[in-house]
Amino acid sequence: MSTTSLNRSGTDTDVDDATGTVRIERLTKRYGDQVAVDDLSLQIQAGEFLSLLGPSGCGKTTTLRMIAGFEQPDAGDILISGQSVLGRPPYKRNVNTVFQAYALFPHMTVAENVAYGLQQKRVPKTEIRERVSSSLDMVQMRSFADRRPTQLSGGQQQRVALARALVNRPAVLLLDEPLGALDRQLREEMQLELKLIQSQLGITFVFVTHDQGEALSMSDRVAVMRAGRIEQLADSDTIYSAPVSAYVAAFVGQQNFFDGTVTADGRAVQAAHAVLRPAERIGSVAPGVQARAAVRPEFVDIVTEAPASDTNVAEGRVIGVSHLGETMQFLVQFGREMSIISRRPTPDALRAAVGDTVWCTWRPESVRVFPVDESAAHGGFVEPPTTRSIRTA
Ligand code: ATP
Repeated sequence: MSTTSLNRSGTDTDVDDATGTVRIERLTKRYGDQVAVDDLSLQIQAGEFLSLLGPSGCGKTTTLRMIAGFEQPDAGDILISGQSVLGRPPYKRNVNTVFQAYALFPHMTVAENVAYGLQQKRVPKTEIRERVSSSLDMVQMRSFADRRPTQLSGGQQQRVALARALVNRPAVLLLDEPLGALDRQLREEMQLELKLIQSQLGITFVFVTHDQGEALSMSDRVAVMRAGRIEQLADSDTIYSAPVSAYVAAFVGQQNFFDGTVTADGRAVQAAHAVLRPAERIGSVAPGVQARAAVRPEFVDIVTEAPASDTNVAEGRVIGVSHLGETMQFLVQFGREMSIISRRPTPDALRAAVGDTVWCTWRPESVRVFPVDESAAHGGFVEPPTTRSIRTA
């Protein structure tokens, strides 16, 4: 099946044939008994920024390495710009890969590192000079052309690695956790720059990361992977606001979970410490069946007087307060083990202190209900691995 997309010049074209499209068809890769990639299909449009997001071991890198040609699939096909690339070596696929480890040649200057691939291809010297200069301009490293990699910071080395890939003018750039070794501030700066470079060049980017913030902020679409398959493929807004499963909800952004049973009228989830009533009738789980309701911390408000209604309310005790700059986080405990997080803008944040009894409330529109998924998170607050953890008293 093919879909219509915009190519670099902005005209309608068939996604199968446009330069820079990637079509993955029923791809499977096994290592012994381990299925690393499991019957995965995916179409990436020309000029798209697509991230493969998921926890360690879900098959992101293996998928990328098969597109690059470093690994061969056991089944399935990969088409780049409409052509099957199975059996073709990496250098004949019109793709380049940027890895987390920059792997620059230490004995060569920055310019020589960037020029190396073109020299191997016997590109004329004047053309090499021009292409190296413009690639270094793109990553703002021209003034460092004569330095050696050891004289550069990690961020600068990664820019050179990017220039070295871009100089080949690939149709598709594959990036495997390229910002993983950088500190947080530099990482955020590089995210913005990478996105800018990608939109200016119109090259297809396939970006592997386990950092949900990074994937959401940069991508046109995000493929959330789980056990070698894609659990959800959508734009960032949809992934965040309408996750298809408790797994995606827990992995992307922070989440409070309440395990309970759907009420007989199919309109609420009766949990141990609260009745959660979404805006609409629960369609995903039948009445009387176990379900997992979820509310994000930014939608949980805290009040110090008992509200009139007893739905979408939970009474508890504040056991932690932390300042996160623009927001404040409150950790509120119910019963023995259950606790949820509320995150409020700092100016509006109520001055509840550790030990206070409070009521957590949330609007029906912020409640999402999922079938219980034994392999995903348990009830209670779930924090993805890449967000900062709350300090408790
Ligand atoms: P990470 O974020 O940790 O890199 P990932 O999502 O990229 O994880 P992969 O590296 O693709 O995951 O690995 C998927 C599965 O395949 C894992 O269970 C891993 O142990 C296994 N695997 C990957 N490469 C090999 C290999 N060369 N030999 C054996 N098993 C492998």
